[in-house]
Amino acid sequence: MDTRKLTILGEAAKYDICSSTASTKQFGKASIGNTLPSGICHSFTPDGRCVSMLKVLMSNECEKDCNYCPNRVQRDVLRTTFAPEELARLFMDMYERNYIEGLFLSSGVRHNAASTIENMLKTLEIIRFRYRFGGYIHLKILPGTEEQFIERAAELSNRISINLEAPNRDRLSILSRTKDFDKELVQPLRSISKILKRHPGTTHSTQFIVGAAQESDKEILTAVNRLYSGFDLKRAYFSAFYPVAGTPLQHMPPASQLREHRLYQSDFLMRFYQFRFQDFIFDESSNLDLSLDPKLMYAIKNPQLFPVEINRATLDQLLRVPGIGPKSARKILQVRRQYKLRSPMELKNMGISLKRAQKFITFDGKCFDSSRWLLDPNRYQYEQLSFFKEVSL
Ligand code: SF4
Repeated sequence: MDTRKLTILGEAAKYDICSSTASTKQFGKASIGNTLPSGICHSFTPDGRCVSMLKVLMSNECEKDCNYCPNRVQRDVLRTTFAPEELARLFMDMYERNYIEGLFLSSGVRHNAASTIENMLKTLEIIRFRYRFGGYIHLKILPGTEEQFIERAAELSNRISINLEAPNRDRLSILSRTKDFDKELVQPLRSISKILKRHPGTTHSTQFIVGAAQESDKEILTAVNRLYSGFDLKRAYFSAFYPVAGTPLQHMPPASQLREHRLYQSDFLMRFYQFRFQDFIFDESSNLDLSLDPKLMYAIKNPQLFPVEINRATLDQLLRVPGIGPKSARKILQVRRQYKLRSPMELKNMGISLKRAQKFITFDGKCFDSSRWLLDPNRYQYEQLSFFKEVSL
């Protein structure tokens, strides 16, 4: 196995983080690589590398000039490219040695998007049809990829993705002079969304670089909200900007990991907690609060909605209570069909954490924790939570 190219192109791929998922897609008579029915699990090291898939670039040559990217055209770096046969064989070698379970394939735009994506698809065809690999493949769609290639990518992959990187045209123009937000990113996204309706086993995702274009959380979540509601996006990923030597942004400070975390929390609230975009609370600079998670912030800023009565609250109301997740909410609904919940201990016995929830719920009209969360009055309009009737245990 020639690992020289792999060292260069594997290292170059680590900046792309949107490669985590499970899949139930079957590939015809494929006889190896399937991990069904349990799906494939992927885990990541803290620096974003995937530990169960071969995560690699087809090429680190790129004609684009994204200011944050180690592969941008003007950067002085060793360049190399896999031939489709070569990469397919390498992947199978690693698979047969049990090093990896699947493939995450991305690439720089070498010469143009069409010729690069053609080579990526050729690689996938060899893996799927010659080697009959039926396992997980995530293919990164390149900026400006045409519909015919997206259609083929959807046939061959479990997941496809195109990275928006910035939430809108203006922010992207700060990051790159050669990428066209509407034509090269939004248009392929539209095609992906349309094409995947014919390929229900394939999903799509995207990634945002956080903090490289002075964008706000509000701008990012506006874009994410549109993607979920209008483009059938499966998942958005957020990657806190980290400066790379030899790029125009090399002297910029890294973006906050906590900010990235708050965006992930907000994303989870949208996907699993029925939160709408207008439910998020932004500060005067249109960012999420770093000191409180967005669900707690929502509860503090909407005192008229709390406390909720645990024996009568709807699923939607329970999901708004800090500390109660979708599983716990369903468990509460199930249990209270049989008996009335009267004390926090009953929730505790069901495995539900009371630390946060207790301040926002009543049991048969009684509240067991009336202490309040305080907000910085300089940043937020302070609203006193005065409606709890305190009851000692
Ligand atoms: S298109 Fe931009 S982000 Fe992608 S490899 Fe090229 S320079 Fe990097």
